Order: sequence, then C-alpha cells, then structure tokens
Amino acid sequence: MTDWTSLLTIERVDAFGAGVYVLMAVIHLDLWLHRKDRPTHLWLAISALGALLVNITGQLVRPLLPNAPQVLVGLNMMGVALALVSLYELVQAVGLRPVTRRARVFQVLVFIPVVGGFFSSAAVLGPALLIMAAGFLVAAMHNAIHDARRGDVEARMLAAGLVFLFVTLMYDVVSSLRLLPRTEGMPVLGFTVLFLAAARALSTRFEREYQELQSLRAHLELRVQQRTADLQEANRKLDALAQTDALTGLPNRRSFAEQADRLIVQHHRAGSVLSVVMVDVDHFKRINDEFGHHGGDVTLRAVAQALRGALRDQDIVARWGGEEFIALLPDTDGAGAVHVAETLRQAVAGLNVVHNTASIRVTASFGLAVHEDQSSLEATTSRADAALYCAKRDGRNRVAVG
Ligand code: GH3
Ligand code: MG
Ligand code: MG
Repeated sequence: MTDWTSLLTIERVDAFGAGVYVLMAVIHLDLWLHRKDRPTHLWLAISALGALLVNITGQLVRPLLPNAPQVLVGLNMMGVALALVSLYELVQAVGLRPVTRRARVFQVLVFIPVVGGFFSSAAVLGPALLIMAAGFLVAAMHNAIHDARRGDVEARMLAAGLVFLFVTLMYDVVSSLRLLPRTEGMPVLGFTVLFLAAARALSTRFEREYQELQSLRAHLELRVQQRTADLQEANRKLDALAQTDALTGLPNRRSFAEQADRLIVQHHRAGSVLSVVMVDVDHFKRINDEFGHHGGDVTLRAVAQALRGALRDQDIVARWGGEEFIALLPDTDGAGAVHVAETLRQAVAGLNVVHNTASIRVTASFGLAVHEDQSSLEATTSRADAALYCAKRDGRNRVAVG
C-alpha cells in the first residue's frame, strides 16, 4: 500500500504553501491597489506575505533552525507577527469594528521579540512571540465568531477559516512536542483554507455591497421620477391657474389674448371670418350697492355661466376685467355675430340670480365687431368697445355693431 504521508515531505508542503501565499498576496495586493478604500484586501495580502515569509525561512516550531543565520530567525518571526496581526486587522475591518488603542499597543509590543529575533536566539523570544501572536489569533477568532453569531455571513466564513487555522496550528505545536503523531504541513493546510475562506468572504461582502448600491440607485431613480411627475403636475396646475379667472372660472384676459391670437392666425390662413363681442354688465355698481359685494360676485358668476352656456364649444369667452367679458366667435360674420350677441343678451336678461333669499335681475350690453384681415386684435376689440359704448348710450340691455 502506498504510504501517502511519506509524500507529504515538509519541503513539498512548504513549496505548495508558498505558491498559494504568493498567489493570494499578489491578487489581493492588486485588488487593494485598484481599490484603496478596501483595506481588507491589504490585510489579506500582508497576512499571505507573512505566511510566505514563515514558509521560506522554515517553520518556527520545528526544532528551530539550530544553525540558521540570525537574519532568517528574525525574518521568520517577522512573518509570524505579520500574518497574525494582519488577520486580526482583517477581522476588525470585515466586522466594521475599529481597532482599539489597547490592541494597537499590543501590535507594537509583538514586534519587540521580532526585532530581538534578528539579534539573539529564538529559543526565548520565539515562544514569547508565539504566545503574543496566538493572542491575536484568539482575539480575531473571538471577534469573528461574535460577528458570525449576529448573523453576518462573511464573518461566519472568516470565523470558520480562523477556527480551522487555530486547530491546525495547535495540532502542529502538540505534535511537534510528540504528544500526537506528527503530520507535516498542518499550518500550510490551515493558512490555505483560511485564505480561501477569507477571499470568499470578501467577494461575498463586495457582491452584497454592490447589490445594495444597485437597489439604492434604483430606489433613487424611482424617487427622482416621482418628483419629476409631481413637479410636472404642479406646473400644469399652476399653468391652469395662471390662465383662469378665479371668480368665474373663465379664461382670464391674458389667456384670451393667447388663444385669440392662435385662432386669428388659423382663420387668416383659411380665409374665414371671425367676430368679437364685448359684454358689460349694466348698472353693476347698483347691484353691488344693493346686494353687497358678495351678491355682485354671485351675479358675475351667473353671467359668466350664462355666456359660456349659450356659446358653441369653439367660441372663446373670457373675463375681460371687472364686470366685462369678451367673446371671440370663429367662422362668424356680422349678421351671425348679431344673432349670437342677441342670444347672449337674452340669456343674461333671463337670469334669476338668487342670493340670500333675494332675487337679482341683471342685464348686459353688447358691442360687436367683425375682425378684419390685416387688422390687430386690439383694433377689433376697440371697435367692439366703441360699439358697446353706443349700446350703453342708447339705453343698455342691447346689442350694437361697431
Ligand atoms: P354701466 O351700466 O355704465 O356699465 O354701469 P356700471 O355700474 O356697471 O359701471 P362701472 O364700470 O362704473 O362699474 C363697474 C363696477 O363693478 C365697479 C366695481 O366696483 C365693480 N366690480 C368690478 N369687479 C368686481 C368684482 O369682481 N366683484 C364685484 N362684486 N364687483 C366688481
Ligand atoms: Mg364696466
Ligand atoms: Mg357696467
């Protein structure tokens, strides 16, 4: 039967480990250089470099490099310190937990035996360093397990890797003391599994952050669309308000002018005729005096409705100001306009406006003018106004042509 364990010579295992660590270090250093805001990659890279340093200088716990050059002893210890201190930093960063001042002090202290390792035997300093480094590993494990228990998926992966590393390191120490059968390469196995778990944890974390960002963006876009729709609606309402007379609900003078200009251009092109009718409520001051301002308002609203109701859809009727109204009648010549104005006059005169049990009778006078080509709207309204003046002068409640 093949003795598989004999294949696991320390040289082979170390070479395998070195390959894994170099890859880890290069990949995560590269990731960190592209994203400096993700220090987790840096910590993982430093930890891999530390493990690599340990590997190429010989395992610390192996009956320790009896005749090794001093610099190798120092480098070996440096590797141990780097690997475990940066693992601790990695756990803190993944858990979004700041490194405390006490931990910082320990981080500095751990490098004292490391510096010593460059000058004197590892026999005393080695165990001191191992105890301190083990302290960092235990602290990292403790924190990762704490985060994992809170439900953090990435911390769970990291905790599993750290526990595995801890067990393999413990086994290595115990087996090197001949308390358990010796199997070479346990730390390499432990670090390899840990690094894979950590890399997986980091990629899971960043994928989750990316998804969160995406959904945040979608949410924001939705909000912007909603706001835009609200604004458009508010603008539409404001626009309508700006064009409407508040008392009567008819278009106001400005809106009338705009609509009339458009209609006049269309009719000019089509060669058809249109007429303008000016309307002024008779003795409106008296209505105000007799029924109060509110009574006057109610009357104005009733007159506006009567005018609108008596006209065709294509006719425009607007409040010109005060108790005056104006109508523009498309495709209507003088005779047609007289007829329409007469209908309007009767509609107003037929009104019975009820206000506070009182009944208000109202009449209006009408002046009309046919719009002539080449003439302006102002000129036509002036002629209609002049006609209206004649209607007033001639006794009111009548139609006059300008
Ligand atoms: P005439 O027959 O000559 O047109 O007489 P009149 O009293 O209607 O004439 P005049 O133009 O002098 O008076 C119009 C009055 O309309 C004056 C003003 O106080 C009143 N008035 C203007 N706008 C409003 C309004 O919105 N509501 C009310 N209640 N009164 C208004
Ligand atoms: Mg008036
Ligand atoms: Mg009047």
